[in-house]
Amino acid sequence: MATNSTVEANFTGSHAVVIGSSMAGLLASRVLSDHFEKVTVIERDRPPETPQVRQGVPQGHHAHLLLMAGESVISQLFPGFFDELQAGGAISADASKDVCWFQFGVWKARFKSGFTFCFQSRTYLEWHLRRRLSAYSNVHFLEECDVTGLLSNRDRTHITGVQLKQRNRQQAVEELEADLVVDASGQGSKTSRWIEALGYQKPEETTVAIDFAYASRRYKCPQNFQEDWKSLSIYNKSPFGKRIGGIFPIEGSQWIVTMGGYFGDYPPNTEKEFLDFAHSLEMPHIYEQIKDAEPLTPIYTYKFPASIRRHYERLSSLPEGIVVVGDALCRFNPIYGQGMSVCALEAKTLDTCLREQRQHRDNRDITGLNRQYFQQVSPVIDIPWMMATSEDFRFPQTQGKRPLGTRFLQWYSAQLMELCSTNPTVLIRFLEVLNLLKKNTVLFHPYIVLQVLKWSLGFKDFNKASAERPRLEETEVKVAADISG
Ligand SMILES: Cc1cc2nc3c(=O)[nH]c(=O)nc-3n(C[C@H](O)[C@H](O)[C@H](O)COP(=O)(O)OP(=O)(O)OC[C@H]3O[C@@H](n4cnc5c(N)ncnc54)[C@H](O)[C@@H]3O)c2cc1C
Repeated sequence: MATNSTVEANFTGSHAVVIGSSMAGLLASRVLSDHFEKVTVIERDRPPETPQVRQGVPQGHHAHLLLMAGESVISQLFPGFFDELQAGGAISADASKDVCWFQFGVWKARFKSGFTFCFQSRTYLEWHLRRRLSAYSNVHFLEECDVTGLLSNRDRTHITGVQLKQRNRQQAVEELEADLVVDASGQGSKTSRWIEALGYQKPEETTVAIDFAYASRRYKCPQNFQEDWKSLSIYNKSPFGKRIGGIFPIEGSQWIVTMGGYFGDYPPNTEKEFLDFAHSLEMPHIYEQIKDAEPLTPIYTYKFPASIRRHYERLSSLPEGIVVVGDALCRFNPIYGQGMSVCALEAKTLDTCLREQRQHRDNRDITGLNRQYFQQVSPVIDIPWMMATSEDFRFPQTQGKRPLGTRFLQWYSAQLMELCSTNPTVLIRFLEVLNLLKKNTVLFHPYIVLQVLKWSLGFKDFNKASAERPRLEETEVKVAADISG
């Protein structure tokens, strides 16, 4: 990817419009700045002057992990980005050494894995992305402005722009023409309804209902904090345990403590009950850390009824000139930390499609671009979607169509997650897949299949896989075999 739009001599189009300036919109806009003479980003909120939660992104109060795949794409789009974040207080961490994670009744092994990533708040991440994007001279921001509809040509085969309305003004609806419209307006996206009104079918939706809720609060990281970890997560064993919790370090020497529960077993927003919820987790470590820590905010809650995927790739006809990204396309259960990283992977896919478009068509012809994009992005979404939903389907209460093979995947991943407590090689591959760096097929490498079979037949190293929180391995652990794939 080019790092500066000025190096792109021939543009694919003169004007692209992006609806929404949150994660998906900012990353897509950065990509579009390499391909369009002008990019206009339209946002209904007024972006805050400092990193703060805003109305359009209320989930900003809650812990937001950025997976390594997401970090990698952002680093390509904005070189030096995470160095800047760390200089401002974001926390770099080794994915195994610095993270204590209790899942499936065992703590994951802890050793220096060499896989590092960055902890920061959602607001801090988004604020810095907007700051970096605004340095691109061909990117323009229209703030406090609602997109209210799409414009199309007379025979409705092309989207030709958007209708918009300035907030706080009585003025009539305005029109803004564009060669390409990118919908990054999040879960409330209206593109499917808008294209239906133009005479097209709505995309099919896959819904997995989980009735989940979060409660989060910021704390001051205690001055006398001397543990050998930076972040700690406790997931009760599903399907009996519906609760999870975590401590995540962020800029400003703070922690975000986030807890969650499925199917009405929600974490509360009152002081004592929040602590009681932490205490009720299978391990008491979060409670022990926060019971005397200094809270900095109220407790914020958020309900997440369902993961939803919209299948634009299945539509037999679609108007040209409209692309959908981010939560508007697919909204994931947040506990797997996938949403923002998938936004980044979608931006990368859009970049690939725009480059291919330029090779195969005349400049300024975007015919077929969106079909290519929806086809190419669908397998990108398949893997995180399958990983998240197959875990959610462990709960009998989960509503949705269980794909074939779900039970086998659940059995296999349960063995794997136990193995991650003792086998560094398996843990590294698991972390790579979890972080969307590798396809989940690497978890079916013969070495790993053999370990899983041995484990399931009872050759379990329970000494190491005990409920005792593991101390850090002193030396760097080498993986057991070269199973790169
Ligand atoms: C509680 C919670 C915790 C989460 N934790 C994680 C995590 O740990 N890791 C992770 O990767 N993801 C996490 N996610 C998911 C992540 O928040 C989303 O995937 C991500 O915000 C999607 O970005 P987006 O830009 O697609 O949509 P959004 O962030 O929803 O933004 C949409 C934007 O569009 C604007 N907008 C909407 N309609 C219009 C309109 N008509 N005109 C103009 N502007 C409009 C809105 O104001 C907003 O700015 C979490 C989500 C929740 C709910």
